[in-house]
Amino acid sequence: MFSKNNESFTCINCGKKVEEHPTSSRDHCNHCLVGLHVDIDPGDRLNECKGILEPIGLKTVNNKEQIVYKCLKCSKTLFCVTAPDDNREKVVELAQLRWEDSL
Ligand SMILES: [Zn+2]
Ligand SMILES: [Zn+2]
Repeated sequence: MFSKNNESFTCINCGKKVEEHPTSSRDHCNHCLVGLHVDIDPGDRLNECKGILEPIGLKTVNNKEQIVYKCLKCSKTLFCVTAPDDNREKVVELAQLRWEDSL
């Protein structure tokens, strides 16, 4: 999984199958939104960390929704643009988390 930029994979968190991204590269599970810390720059898959990225919030940049992630291994905070087929209920839940307050 995650060996190519855009590949279907099985989520390590919820165990569901994640299909290829329709237009871009898939960087998180569209069911539970959990990701893996595999990129240094988005899509490059060069990061050796490979920790679990826990979604902790949502922010909007240039009208694009970005999920705010915290890596459970290296504690870095990073951002991933939401996919069109992301679980909307989860995205809405994230939007209600006041993550900025806890940074
Ligand atoms: Zn998942
Ligand atoms: Zn990490």
